Amino acid sequence: MKNYLIVFASLCLLTACSIVSKSELQRVQQTQVKQHTTALKKKTTIPSKTQEIKRYQNRKPIKWGVDVPGVVRKLPTNGKVIALTFDACGGKHGSGYDKAIIQYLNKHHIPATLFINSRWIDANPDTFMELSHNPLFEIENHGTEHRPLSVTGRSVYGIQGTKNVSNVYNEINGNAQKIKKLTGKFPKFFRSGTAYYDDIAVHIVNDLNEIPVNFDIIGDAGATFTTKQVEHSMLRAKPGSIIILHMNQPKGDTAEGIQKAIPRLLQEGYHFVKLENYLKTK
Ligand SMILES: [Zn+2]
Repeated sequence: MKNYLIVFASLCLLTACSIVSKSELQRVQQTQVKQHTTALKKKTTIPSKTQEIKRYQNRKPIKWGVDVPGVVRKLPTNGKVIALTFDACGGKHGSGYDKAIIQYLNKHHIPATLFINSRWIDANPDTFMELSHNPLFEIENHGTEHRPLSVTGRSVYGIQGTKNVSNVYNEINGNAQKIKKLTGKFPKFFRSGTAYYDDIAVHIVNDLNEIPVNFDIIGDAGATFTTKQVEHSMLRAKPGSIIILHMNQPKGDTAEGIQKAIPRLLQEGYHFVKLENYLKTK
């Protein structure tokens, strides 16, 4: 009888323990769900323009260029991977579509990142939607008016930069909102028109939940390179290289150049990846 009582008491204890651990488990799970929801909310909330103006209006930039701290120029890996990035700049002389590039990438299942400007989207609405539905590509932010990103109005190559914090905010967020509206997704990466930034502008890009991304290899120099030059430049790629090319100048030789270089890079054991595969976003 005594033994039965001990067994009964032990069973009760075990059951109680399992009830406690079950409710504890539920509590932990609920906390995790709560934390996840908060993280998601955080991700979609960006500071207002007024908040950013208040934060930065009295700060003077000290750096300017394509290689400013905080701007990613290579993937953080020693693996034999390369990120191809194609800019579509838009504007009067930059709204063409080099279909041969996309056809080649599609045919050979080569993924790529497409940095697209608002003006290019307006000039090529159907193509933009088609590209956004293609899982080989990620659509990223190449600005609203394609301006060098400056809080003091600095220019480069004769292109007027943004003039103040408010302009910088609009240049980033204008196109981000457009892309979100059309595709349902906010862009994760930003490349300014001309790829120039000052250090304050880099902070603002980060505040708006995007990562500024440039390159370590100039693939086509604004689609001005010959086929041979594109090929030679691309063959200089190293593990983790980010190559900048253009998909908005069909008269250029970029399509021909990549068709020479890509098979050789594949032969050397390289794989092509999208930025999102290697760069951590918030
Ligand atoms: Zn551009």
